[in-house]
Amino acid sequence: MGDQAKRTVAVIGAGVIGACTASFLLRKGHDVVLIERGEPGEGASFGNAGCFNGSSVVPMSMPGILRNVPKWCVDPLGPLAIRIGYLPRLAPWLISFIRAGTPAKVAHQARALRSLLHQGIDTLLPLVRDAGAQQLVERLGHLFVYRSLASFAKDRSAWQLRSDNGITWDEFDADQLRQLDPNLSHAYVKGVLVRENGHTTDPHALVSSLVRAFERDGGRLVRRRAVGFDLSQERLVGVRCVDGVVAADAAVIAAGIWSKPLAAALGDPVPLETERGYHLMIRDGGVAPRIPTADAEKKFVATAMRGGLRLAGTVELAGLDAPPNWERARILLVAARGMYPKLGAHFGEDRITTWMGHRPSTPDSLPVIGRSRRTGDVVYAFGHGHIGMSCAANTGRTVAELISGERTAIDIAPFDPQRFR
Ligand SMILES: Cc1cc2nc3c(=O)[nH]c(=O)nc-3n(C[C@H](O)[C@H](O)[C@H](O)COP(=O)(O)OP(=O)(O)OC[C@H]3O[C@@H](n4cnc5c(N)ncnc54)[C@H](O)[C@@H]3O)c2cc1C
Repeated sequence: MGDQAKRTVAVIGAGVIGACTASFLLRKGHDVVLIERGEPGEGASFGNAGCFNGSSVVPMSMPGILRNVPKWCVDPLGPLAIRIGYLPRLAPWLISFIRAGTPAKVAHQARALRSLLHQGIDTLLPLVRDAGAQQLVERLGHLFVYRSLASFAKDRSAWQLRSDNGITWDEFDADQLRQLDPNLSHAYVKGVLVRENGHTTDPHALVSSLVRAFERDGGRLVRRRAVGFDLSQERLVGVRCVDGVVAADAAVIAAGIWSKPLAAALGDPVPLETERGYHLMIRDGGVAPRIPTADAEKKFVATAMRGGLRLAGTVELAGLDAPPNWERARILLVAARGMYPKLGAHFGEDRITTWMGHRPSTPDSLPVIGRSRRTGDVVYAFGHGHIGMSCAANTGRTVAELISGERTAIDIAPFDPQRFR
């Protein structure tokens, strides 16, 4: 790269999206500073299920979603719950979410998601290798399990969407499922294995390794909280932080759920909402599924992590500020005992840890990737909702292409920040 093309780029947020974006920008020869208000990888990227699922093309809002809303409002422990007191503030997002679930829109969203997810793990692996973190990534597939053929049939439209987007899988009956994972409850009668998928056994360690490698290779990590942008005409001159300005001629907003006020500061009101999710981990529980396994009805994933068995998932719509409802994490333990009867009935509490994180979600399940309205020097990379781990590498590569003035390999039109206007 010639000196003229070399830019000083500030990436705001050291979650999985910011870490991958900063790594790719560095590889393009830019001078990169990663601005993080806390520690790398301690936002949503900390406690997720760790899955790199190229197959996650099914949007959250699907046709027929409306009839489920009353149920979500009355069952605080269901797979998807809405806190009634938050409903008035949530309403505009929820209405857009429901409207996003028409068959035509869903087909468009799934196509766009596939373009961003496809071979994401192949894009990620070189970064992982350079960071010396290969031992944290496995590629053994992702297993979905069902308790009845009727519930598998209910998911038909989701599997059709996956098939329409070139995703293939293997199906297992009850006996074959038992052979695949002898620990699984006999209540499961159907399994679907998507082999292209992979996972990490420690998302936090993975993000930390990527950031350490970024620093080793000449990137700068600064611990500051970004609050706005300094522009001269339409050109960026710096990112304003609580305690001063970080000089930069380009910037990326990759601050997860906290990206919303930063984009608003540039005149882009993006409808970003937290889909709060929980995990519960059991150290030495005696069960460690080789392949991450999703209970398709109860909407949680069991992943064997370095620190124990992690049960992660479900959605709670209650805003950023409400305290966690730890009962929602505890129900994951009940569900997991239904999944793996061998999980002992009694654990000392010292073997259990719980966590809550904020998925940064848009109503149409598509992330926001593109330039801000006020200046082309600031690029957005947020709103990855349920699939930030899976998209991170391809998003990071795409943003690095944009900042370098290259044509992006992925069509970013579906992720346009202006689509909500
Ligand atoms: C229970 C659960 C399970 C999940 N499972 C999966 C899964 O299996 N696979 C998958 O693909 N995805 C999964 N996800 C989703 C995934 O975790 C997220 O999409 C992803 O972590 C988002 O990453 P991010 O970098 O955008 O945000 P974050 O990880 O939240 O990072 C944002 C960073 O920005 C920093 N920051 C914020 N504001 C500022 C500021 N003003 N200045 C400086 N720094 C700032 C924060 O401190 C934070 O470090 C799951 C999520 C949850 C909650």
